[in-house]
Amino acid sequence: MSLTRRQFTIASAAAMAARFAPPLIAQPADKPVGYAIIGLGRIADHFMDGIQHSPNSKVTALVSGHPDKAARYAEKYGVPKSSIYNYENMDSFRDNPNVDAVYVALPNSMHAEYTIRSAKAGKHVLCEKPMCINVTEAHAMIDACKQANVKLMIAYRCHYEPTNLKAVSLIRSGAIGKVESIQSAFGFNIGATEWRLNKKLAGGGPLMDVGIYCLNATRYLTGEEPADLHAYAFSDPADPRFRQVEENLVWNTKFPSGVVASCNTTYGSNMDGYFHVYGSKGWIEARPAFNYDGLRLRAEYQDASGKWISLDEPNIQKDPYQFTAEANHFSHCVHHNQTPKTPGEEGLRDMEYITRLYSSAGIQMLA
Ligand code: NDP
Repeated sequence: MSLTRRQFTIASAAAMAARFAPPLIAQPADKPVGYAIIGLGRIADHFMDGIQHSPNSKVTALVSGHPDKAARYAEKYGVPKSSIYNYENMDSFRDNPNVDAVYVALPNSMHAEYTIRSAKAGKHVLCEKPMCINVTEAHAMIDACKQANVKLMIAYRCHYEPTNLKAVSLIRSGAIGKVESIQSAFGFNIGATEWRLNKKLAGGGPLMDVGIYCLNATRYLTGEEPADLHAYAFSDPADPRFRQVEENLVWNTKFPSGVVASCNTTYGSNMDGYFHVYGSKGWIEARPAFNYDGLRLRAEYQDASGKWISLDEPNIQKDPYQFTAEANHFSHCVHHNQTPKTPGEEGLRDMEYITRLYSSAGIQMLA
């Protein structure tokens, strides 16, 4: 198999990580896990805000291509100037004892390289979704973190979010009976200057970015892995935004137990992120389900005595509570040497399904 130059760089970095693998030293639980934030964009802002409410996490370093912005965040979060790095000298945080972990919040196609470099520097990695832009990169990231004895978690915040967790627990309790079908959607009307429209940076369109929430939700709601997937995509040829990535993608999934799911993602319209689960004895819906706050859970089902329950639970927690929960979990795993609930393998699975969906829709992914 021949490797592209990009794959070769990633594979070489993974091999280097293996050679420099430090022994895993349990982090003392009385010292908050120190995070270097890599890429100071919108989501990094939410995450850094979330960390301020976390008892076991702290922002201790910043990596940015914009020194002025980094200086502003350093002042805001009490990060010393000596702990501000750029993309070239970042690897020297290997010698910074206050950096235990990194949070990778870069455009999708940069996740693999920066995860592997961080692992090589002996740091645990919390990486944003999508994990990367293809299956080869996902394997390289997992291997590099294993070989360097560091943890890898993909930032699937819904796995740590109470409204989503309650939906899962109601379904598992049998409240709505046998799950028959799921509908889910998520999308937004994208601005023309977003890096998300550049395939080299994004790897794909709304499926990689927001459709992944629906894909992942159908998996955690059913507790099953898709047996079959079929997708169909359409992009307006007259809209210059969609020259490189898809505008709309819809797909159907069949799960082994017979549950079917129907999902929809777009960059052409503002589409509430939601899921609706139909069971043999009732239904459950989270709408919105994937926003940073304002989530709402509704359901109708019969309890054990046959009485109809009508549930309507708005979640009053405010952003950045989901990011705090996510940081709490990863830091707990670092302190207690546990595997995160959403490890690299969870991101890899989504990447495998995304590959099948793009293939089904006739869309070529980047090697
Ligand atoms: P932004 O564009 O807001 O931020 C990305 C940052 O990456 C930039 O601010 C910049 O930081 C850095 N960067 C380095 N190279 C480039 C480049 N060539 N082009 C653009 N930025 C570059 O993106 P988001 O924060 O919205 O998304 C970042 C990641 O987080 C994505 O993978 C996305 O999928 C994920 N995400 C996850 C969400 C969630 O809820 N879990 C929600 C939103 C995004 P600097 O200027 O400091 O160098």
